[in-house]
Amino acid sequence: MASCKFCGKQEPVMYCVCAGCMDKLRPQWISVKERTPKPATKVIVYWENSGGPVICEGYYMGEDGWSYVGWEAPRFIVTHWMPLPSPPED
Ligand SMILES: [Zn+2]
Repeated sequence: MASCKFCGKQEPVMYCVCAGCMDKLRPQWISVKERTPKPATKVIVYWENSGGPVICEGYYMGEDGWSYVGWEAPRFIVTHWMPLPSPPED
């Protein structure tokens, strides 16, 4: 289990964002066609595979594609990303 990066709710490890936050965050996803994050900066990445949507942490490595935290996946599978939220203050 891992906790949601946004609200702290416990969710299966394949998601670092819970379904509730996912709905709220949906408009904030940035298409990789639009822009990519600064290389080597940790962000939240999104793609869909045959099992459904995958959300995890990853790094954009410039022309080498993406690397993922806790996932083995093709380097160019990411379709959307967003910056990590700020850490909680309490
Ligand atoms: Zn959440």
